[in-house]
Amino acid sequence: MKIVIVGGVAGGASAAARLRRLDEHAEIILFEKGQHISYANCGLPYYVSRTIKKQEDLLVQTPKSFNGRFCIDIRTMNEVIRINREYKRVEVYNHVTKETYFETYDKLILSPGARAVKPSSVQGLDNEGVFTLRDVPDIMEIDNWILENEPEHATIAGGGAAGIELAENLIMRGLKVTLVGSAIIKAVDKEMSKIAEKELKKNGVELLLNRYITSVQKNAANLVVHTTDGDVQTGMLIVCAGVVPNSKLAAEAGLKLGVRDCIAINDKMETSDPDIYAVGDVTESTEFITREKKHISLAGPANRQGRIVANQIMGIDSRYKGTQSSFVIKVFDIAVASTGITEITAKDLGIDYDKVYMHAGAHAGYYPGAKPLTSKIIFERTTGRVLGGQFVGAEGADKRCDVLATAIRAGLTATDLMDLELCYAPPFNSAKDPLNMAGFIIENIMTGMVNNFHWENLNSVSHKEGTLLDVRTKQEAEKNHVSKFINIPLHELRIRINEIPPGKPVYVHCFSGLRSYVACRLLKAHGFECYNLSGGIFMYSTINS
Ligand code: FAD
Repeated sequence: MKIVIVGGVAGGASAAARLRRLDEHAEIILFEKGQHISYANCGLPYYVSRTIKKQEDLLVQTPKSFNGRFCIDIRTMNEVIRINREYKRVEVYNHVTKETYFETYDKLILSPGARAVKPSSVQGLDNEGVFTLRDVPDIMEIDNWILENEPEHATIAGGGAAGIELAENLIMRGLKVTLVGSAIIKAVDKEMSKIAEKELKKNGVELLLNRYITSVQKNAANLVVHTTDGDVQTGMLIVCAGVVPNSKLAAEAGLKLGVRDCIAINDKMETSDPDIYAVGDVTESTEFITREKKHISLAGPANRQGRIVANQIMGIDSRYKGTQSSFVIKVFDIAVASTGITEITAKDLGIDYDKVYMHAGAHAGYYPGAKPLTSKIIFERTTGRVLGGQFVGAEGADKRCDVLATAIRAGLTATDLMDLELCYAPPFNSAKDPLNMAGFIIENIMTGMVNNFHWENLNSVSHKEGTLLDVRTKQEAEKNHVSKFINIPLHELRIRINEIPPGKPVYVHCFSGLRSYVACRLLKAHGFECYNLSGGIFMYSTINS
């Protein structure tokens, strides 16, 4: 068996290693058009601040080490430029010798990844000092520019993971940073990304949101970045505006493409040609929850798909079951993690969903150092199916996200979260993990123990149609009064219950939604119809600040 692989990083290298482990005798050739294989794309931003100290640390494997372990014929600086399906061969351009040659295959695996977009609508992105970030040479160019030109200021276009990670690492390098974009971390809902927005501002990143770069000009010393709302003078611009799949090779070979020109594949990673497989960022993903086709660019799926394709080629029937879009982003001292679909997606798809928020310490409050963790779980109202979750905080966001990701994979319902037995000691958690709490709250909602309302409804609830009740302490209410709400602290509610007019619904809030839930139960027992503000005034204030 002769297997040819195009692309030597996440998907390609994983496939090559697994193939060798399954078949000692197969001929495996791996073509990589760049200098490096198996490099850490995800680690690139951290080189700018020297959190990752040396360029070599970004190379998980070198051709020599990889070949030594797996006996793979690795050809770096060799670019596959054409696929001839009829003759089952690829045409290769050697960037060193400048020669072109052919190589035949029995099975061909495409893992050429994606490339960073430089929007063609923006004039001037070809100026010196404008960069994108995808691979090791890109980060070295950025680093060299900083070393040689000593810019005081950098601009990032785009508020996704790469843009945010770069912003943080450039600040650590001593530059001033402006981030321009429509929003930050659009892969989570806006009230959750707002917490990250604050963290970025707190750490000195200037955010120019709700705007786009329109053009870039070079003047004597600087670049002038023109946006839809004002100009930015800057020493360098890094465009982090997303990626597009490197699918031209496949398209020219007549392979079927799908959404956003990604290569269409089935769950065996087969393309429309049974001898050609594709994995990683170049492929169309099936979203795990909705089964929608999407372009999702993540390292975990690319690596797992590399293993699956090797299994398939070697006769083991493993299947790829879909991509949940689980991710985590470090934003200075906090993390933003997410799995499954967002509320916006659920709404767009017309799913009958509900959501709960929790805002509590990431470990027991009585043990020093507990930092707040804000969690959001989205679930299907009728079945309790977990649709997604988002977690933001300085501690434990990734852990809760991973547990929820596992629950989603396993098909657990939101109320099953109550039964998860998760490890606990005061420095690490509370006896009731936030996910247990989510399960309790969702059970309360699904069984009618409590009715929720949400931050987006708060402005429309009117004291004419109901009583608006704040059950925080007097001090809390004085410090952050919410107009129209009367304050009766929870511990006084029983004795002051006659201050609440009967026959009208009561909308109750506190800081996080916990005390207001207790108040709702009390009021309900006295015959009131009650609604609890999920996530409390914290969530409302976060989005409105
Ligand atoms: P790639 O890793 O891009 O590899 C494709 C390779 O194919 C490239 O080296 C390319 O040179 C080569 N190639 C292309 N065309 C040809 C050709 N015709 N012939 C020969 N070789 C070719 N994901 C996460 O899950 N978490 C993260 O924290 C994260 N952070 C990231 C940070 C940055 C800055 C970047 C750029 C990406 C990050 N990602 C992250 C995404 C992750 O790196 C990708 O999803 C993953 O690398 C995709 O693997 P792949 O094999 O499909 O493509």
